[in-house]
Amino acid sequence: MGEVRTIDPTTGEELASYPTATDEELETVLDRAADTARRWGQLPVEERAEGLRRLARAMRERREELAQLATAEMGKPIAESRAEVDKCAWGLEHAAELAPAALAPEPVDTGALESYVRFDPLGVVLAIMPWNFPYWQVIRAGASAMAAGNVLVLKHADNVTGCSLALGELVAAADLPPGLLAPIVVEVERVAGIIADPRVAAVTLTGSTRAGRAVASQAGAVLKKSVLELGGSDAFVVLEDADLAAAADWLVRSRFQNVGQSCIAAKRAVVVESVADELVGRVVEGVGRLVVGDPRDEKTTVGPMARRDLRDGLARQVEETKAAGAELLVGGRVLDRPGWFYEPTVLDRVPPGSPGRAEEVFGPALSVVRVPDAEAALAVANETEYGLGSNLWTSDLERARTLVGRIQAGHTAVNGMTASDPRLPFGGIKSSGYGRELALFGLRELVNVHSVVVN
Ligand code: NAP
Repeated sequence: MGEVRTIDPTTGEELASYPTATDEELETVLDRAADTARRWGQLPVEERAEGLRRLARAMRERREELAQLATAEMGKPIAESRAEVDKCAWGLEHAAELAPAALAPEPVDTGALESYVRFDPLGVVLAIMPWNFPYWQVIRAGASAMAAGNVLVLKHADNVTGCSLALGELVAAADLPPGLLAPIVVEVERVAGIIADPRVAAVTLTGSTRAGRAVASQAGAVLKKSVLELGGSDAFVVLEDADLAAAADWLVRSRFQNVGQSCIAAKRAVVVESVADELVGRVVEGVGRLVVGDPRDEKTTVGPMARRDLRDGLARQVEETKAAGAELLVGGRVLDRPGWFYEPTVLDRVPPGSPGRAEEVFGPALSVVRVPDAEAALAVANETEYGLGSNLWTSDLERARTLVGRIQAGHTAVNGMTASDPRLPFGGIKSSGYGRELALFGLRELVNVHSVVVN
């Protein structure tokens, strides 16, 4: 039997260790999940919605404890951890509110006595989740799935095993069946076997594009539905007529919140040359106001990165981007203190093909690309393999409406920053994945769209 150790990224010290599940324990979890799925899926949707509301209440009641745990395990500044718990409660309540209408059978006039479309649950869904929003990623995928009558077996990222188990405890605290959301601690090598297990109907993964490719092919081999929410390299396009003060503020927020570790962070600022000096100057000032430190300190806005290997990977990307010709404006160093800290960094004039432009940069380092005009900005925005979020800044909303249709992404924020919102579907295209979570599309993603004709 193996074990998983969690490490506090602020100190580098061990927090806890957990044994991985034995084959017998995994069997028990899958049996119980399949049994719960049969019963949960048959409940009236209003009853399931009420269950999600209880789960939201249980999260709010344990808000501080949950927030402190996330900050300890992955280093998110404490205020952001609290906000994450609040967002989970909102996400659960919103799914509960929407579900009865979204999942009600839809009548269709075919000339038969009766014809309609039902939205039936698929059953047990394996949810493979990342550490960066250790609660929200699970709820973002899970609220709709559970409202639709499915149950989740949760394989979370190792470094947030405490958060994963806490979610399982909340299900019990909310008086919901333990099989509804069951965390498992297993090695990645065992995931393919779980996907292939006949008790599992589908898999949803939020994580890197590399993991997405592996899981999609495993699911494809056994012809099971998959939903993939993968990496991103969102452009933050600033045109010559943008409100530069506001754009700079939002850019700093979007790039550096969660220590830069967000799939929809503005990773590449694509700025029209005529306003680039002013925008970049404001961004550098904004970065200077960030407070790097212990994430448990209320004043901190940038904590450590979640794992040492991720911090070292970021340092490599910044070095290679500089070597390719980018100009380092601020930051660019590993901090000389315990834990996995990296200075908030801005790289200007980032050349094509360098890691700062061609790879996903999952940490506190912004790449700036200067372009002559809006056409060139669009070309740079669309040049990566990713297509998750995007941001467009211009005061000409008519022009924005036209440009938005040419941006290859699942979400565009005009004069704002991309953020997931329970009221809007969320997901990507290209190597950022497929399928949608949240809102109506999320509620109908992990279902059997079941046509019925009565003659
Ligand atoms: P990751 O390394 O891909 O891990 C994500 C999850 O997948 C973890 O539970 C991981 O388990 C598991 N996993 C990794 N390789 C696997 C494989 N071959 N088979 C089955 N499971 C596998 O990603 P991460 O470092 O945790 O998260 C950062 C990435 O997630 C970034 O690329 C980010 O953009 C993306 N992300 C996307 C979204 C979105 O909504 N599109 C949201 C958040 C994050 P272990 O931890 O045990 O390796």
